[in-house]
Amino acid sequence: MDPGADQLAVRDWLHGFAADVIRPAAAEWDEREETPWPVIQEAAKLGIYSLDFYAQQYFDPSGIGIPIAMEELFWGDAGIGLSIVGTTLAAVAVLANGTDEQIGTWTPQMFGTPDDVKVAAFCSSEPDAGSDVSALRTRAVYDEAKDEWVLNGTKTWATNGGIAAVHVVVATVDPELGARGHASFVVPPGTPGLSQGQKFKKHGIRASHTAEVVLDGVRVPGSCLLGGKEKLDERLARAREGVQKSGGRGNAAMATFEASRPAVGAQAIGIARAAYEVALDYARTREQFGRPIIDNQGVAFQLADMKTRIDAARLLVWRASWMAVNNQPFTAAEGSMSKLYAGETAKWVTAQAMQILGGNGFTREYPVERMHRDSAIYSIFEGTSEIQRLVIARAISGMPIR
Ligand SMILES: Cc1cc2nc3c(=O)[nH]c(=O)nc-3n(C[C@H](O)[C@H](O)[C@H](O)COP(=O)(O)OP(=O)(O)OC[C@H]3O[C@@H](n4cnc5c(N)ncnc54)[C@H](O)[C@@H]3O)c2cc1C
Repeated sequence: MDPGADQLAVRDWLHGFAADVIRPAAAEWDEREETPWPVIQEAAKLGIYSLDFYAQQYFDPSGIGIPIAMEELFWGDAGIGLSIVGTTLAAVAVLANGTDEQIGTWTPQMFGTPDDVKVAAFCSSEPDAGSDVSALRTRAVYDEAKDEWVLNGTKTWATNGGIAAVHVVVATVDPELGARGHASFVVPPGTPGLSQGQKFKKHGIRASHTAEVVLDGVRVPGSCLLGGKEKLDERLARAREGVQKSGGRGNAAMATFEASRPAVGAQAIGIARAAYEVALDYARTREQFGRPIIDNQGVAFQLADMKTRIDAARLLVWRASWMAVNNQPFTAAEGSMSKLYAGETAKWVTAQAMQILGGNGFTREYPVERMHRDSAIYSIFEGTSEIQRLVIARAISGMPIR
């Protein structure tokens, strides 16, 4: 698979930004556990934080523009990387489910301008609905007289939740339909009734803001229902028929998650590659018993395995990304496969890197300690590793494995 000259130029440009701007700021924002607004602004000024940039990468003829971009940014730092790309999750939900008018209205407001940057949040998970998205309870009720939707419920784990200008909220309009009764709503900036609940203090990716979002009688105009009311009514009517026949499946939120999995895998590869490079460098220069520690096969083979797994993970991610861009059917859940393997690889590689650095690896003087903490989220969010295995197992077997 050849990225091509244009894509390699983008990669090198992003690598420069990651090396010169993101990496030097990583330790500070990890300690502060705050959104790195100045870094996001810097990215916006260069055009890296904009919908145009991600659209260009997505439509790059190579089919691998997005994973290449993600890998470089997250090679710089995962917490800052997620602060820069977190908005795209909400933007993708609007792009996937919204009308042209909704896309034109809301996506620019998600990013703001280089002088006044904004972020957006995608709110699906709830305290009792994590892996099982169909269990979500946030309710959307239509007030026909005012042509408004009223949202009530509590969302959790929302990246940028409460600090976002635009929130995209998944809610149920018909709880009896399970996941097929879900719809997505835009909550415009400053809407009364939406507030931030607790902000989580996390193990890793600490520069990325994660919080609960409380929706208390939030009223949004009818035009904020993504896709529009007519389409929703048709879908609900079909679901009501279908539920009686087959039990009902599928929803907008799951479709959004599935489409974003190779990109999330690429983020994990960025972390793994960064830790591997630090470990390789250290192993070449650190001397014990009168020779560099890499002279020991035990250490050199560890590095050989790290590099092999990183490259294998990247090929899985590139394949899935290429398939998505070229509308290939994911008959073996190749998107989930790529995220599963890349996430587990990042956790394993960063743990090996800490071991190769010995005591230094265990301290915040060296970045592998942070990379190891950051990698841990990659077997949890965007579908845990167990859920990826479930999806793959169902795809390859055609059986309703539980
Ligand atoms: C830092 C962070 C950022 C996040 N950002 C967002 C966001 O922006 N928007 C959003 O909507 N959500 C977000 N999430 C939520 C994330 O997607 C969920 O945490 C994830 O889906 C898992 O849900 P859960 O935490 O409720 O775990 P649970 O679903 O309770 O799972 C607990 C354990 O049980 C296992 N398990 C559950 N069901 C099965 C099964 N059927 N078979 C085998 N094992 C199973 C899981 O794999 C896991 O190990 C974020 C989470 C974090 C931590």
